[in-house]
Amino acid sequence: MESRGWLGWDVREAPRATEQQLQAVHPPEYVASVREHCEAARAFDADTPVVPASWEAGLRAAGAACAMVDALLDGTAATGFCGLRPPGHHAEPDRAMGFCLFANAAVAAEHALTRDGVDRVFILDWDVHHGNGTHAAFHSRPDVLFASLHQWPFYPGTGALGDTGSGEGEGFTINLPVPAGSGEPEWLGLVEHVVVPAARAFVPDLILVSAGFDAHRDDPLADCRLETDSFRHLALHVAALAGGLGVPAGALLEGGYDVDALADSAVATMEALESGGTPRSVDPGPLVQAAAERIGQFWPVA
Ligand SMILES: [Zn+2]
Repeated sequence: MESRGWLGWDVREAPRATEQQLQAVHPPEYVASVREHCEAARAFDADTPVVPASWEAGLRAAGAACAMVDALLDGTAATGFCGLRPPGHHAEPDRAMGFCLFANAAVAAEHALTRDGVDRVFILDWDVHHGNGTHAAFHSRPDVLFASLHQWPFYPGTGALGDTGSGEGEGFTINLPVPAGSGEPEWLGLVEHVVVPAARAFVPDLILVSAGFDAHRDDPLADCRLETDSFRHLALHVAALAGGLGVPAGALLEGGYDVDALADSAVATMEALESGGTPRSVDPGPLVQAAAERIGQFWPVA
């Protein structure tokens, strides 16, 4: 991004999340335990080591997500992209895991919901892994529609198609597992034919994207086959959805482990969010049709 002049975007330093912002998702005892683990450099699990500086990084990742929400809702930015490390979508309200300390997207959504005029937030998670943290935060809630596309079966093991939320939140969780080897027919097809129609019917006031780039064919941690240009088209779907609804959309970085694919795909996403345009249309195959049938129990999808 730096070599591309940050695409001409404003570059803003991430503020620290406040205790109040974190505690909208995470219990105070959990926040304290993250601080203790970081200060002691005590790993949460094999994937989630920490050092003392991790505390500051975690605070600023969640804080950046909230600052982006404010910029979008204040109208000081037309769109936004948070280049966060650590990522957040595996952090459950009371559990750090999968490189994640705080659930950045969930914290951002909760922050948005504290603002006047924001009653509903839509979160699309296109990281190749299931966004179990965001899923857990809003599983029983009707004010956040959460849709996750993810390789399946795969880490972290959650996110079956049949898991559509609970209680008042029944139908407000959309899990869209895809098999290893999936590419644009599955990923773009599910977004076009399931995610976008459901989100449009939900009528959100804000759209957030948990933008991982580990479904890229070059990614060493997963087995999907998206191209850099595929992420442009995923983002074009988001931009078109946001434009049609007249609401802002911004993205937060999640996974992505091939550095060149990550950089190029993040730039493609940013360009698409800014420019908008017509996303590539794909015919719905059997996997998309099966998902549409299941999610069609709750939303008017094709
Ligand atoms: Zn991932």
